[in-house]
Amino acid sequence: MGFQRYKINRRILEDLEQRSTPGMYFYLIITAVVLCVNGFYKRHIEFSVVFASAMAIIAAFRLAQFYLFRTLYAFSRKFNYLAFFASVYATSLIWGTGFGYFMFHPEENASQIVMIASTVGLTAGGVMAFFPAWRVSVIYTILMLGPAAFLMLLHRINPPLVFLILLYALYLPVMALRGNREYWNALENEHDLILKNEEIKKLSRTDGLTGLYNRRYFEEIFSMQWKSALRNQSFISLIIGDIDHFKKINDTYGHPAGDAFLQEIAALLSGILKRDTDFIARYGGEEFVALALNTGPEETRLLAETIREEIEKMRLCLNSEILQATISLGAVSCIPRIQDRKEQILKKADDALYRAKKKGRNRVVFHAQEN
Ligand code: GH3
Ligand code: MG
Ligand code: MG
Repeated sequence: MGFQRYKINRRILEDLEQRSTPGMYFYLIITAVVLCVNGFYKRHIEFSVVFASAMAIIAAFRLAQFYLFRTLYAFSRKFNYLAFFASVYATSLIWGTGFGYFMFHPEENASQIVMIASTVGLTAGGVMAFFPAWRVSVIYTILMLGPAAFLMLLHRINPPLVFLILLYALYLPVMALRGNREYWNALENEHDLILKNEEIKKLSRTDGLTGLYNRRYFEEIFSMQWKSALRNQSFISLIIGDIDHFKKINDTYGHPAGDAFLQEIAALLSGILKRDTDFIARYGGEEFVALALNTGPEETRLLAETIREEIEKMRLCLNSEILQATISLGAVSCIPRIQDRKEQILKKADDALYRAKKKGRNRVVFHAQEN
């Protein structure tokens, strides 16, 4: 799937929670500090109780959400999204309102200074945490700083400070925009890298000319299938084929025609070996290898015979010339025993192919398993 920039998916949501929720511990500590400075809470008991309770409740809610992310996500994806964003806005609104209350009390000089410093720090931290979602950063900033700025403007309290708060409220989203771009660039790069890796992996397994798997990948798959056949005590079959007198095709029609012929044969083989468990690779120049699972000796022999017949029937028209060839095949089918080695069965298939060549080509030699 293509990369969707700015789309908040599960990973981004989890990232947002991880970046922002630990900050809740700071909110709680700072709440306690600002309320205690110079015994502020004693003179503003009602406000202090409401503010501290609201912060404690929202922090508990957010921390619970954070630690229960997986369960909540499984329960309802939508609820999880809504609960997170709503609680982030609630946190900033509660704090922003508290900040406004402090600004409204110029007589509490020391508390105000602590509150201003804390709010500046918390807002910057929050905006950084919300880099992945720029709009959240903006709304968060407005809710953190807006109520105080609004109240102060309304009552003409400390206009230079209001000016600074507004300037800061503008500056933070600009910073966030930059961080947001960098965050998404990094994600996009990561996504591209994964795709490129997959492409490279695929290329490293494929033969460039025929599009079939290559010998190296065959060895890997053969090794895996062998182990699984040994474990399940099921049949594993190998068919190795080599085109007869292929040099003649190259010599008569040229190397490019030989290449086209090999491609045609590859397509034909892919059409014959269609089961999910079938595997086919280009084993060498004009040699192919097929691997079939749960296919008994007779079925394997018939499969090799079908390949032989189809190739014999195959005609490739190229520049008004008609190319044709035959193939010799060696086949083997066995249920692996604990003392068997996979190299042995490969050698048996190869020996059978050699015998097919010796016997006059265009034939299948099947090697039966000895008991
Ligand atoms: P036989 O197998 O029947 O004994 O005779 P042959 O002529 O096919 O002999 P062999 O299998 O030893 O020769 C393989 C030839 O296949 C040699 C080489 O020119 C040709 N060949 C191998 N790879 C390619 C390829 O990628 N493209 C083309 N056009 N030819 C190839
Ligand atoms: Mg050959
Ligand atoms: Mg050969």
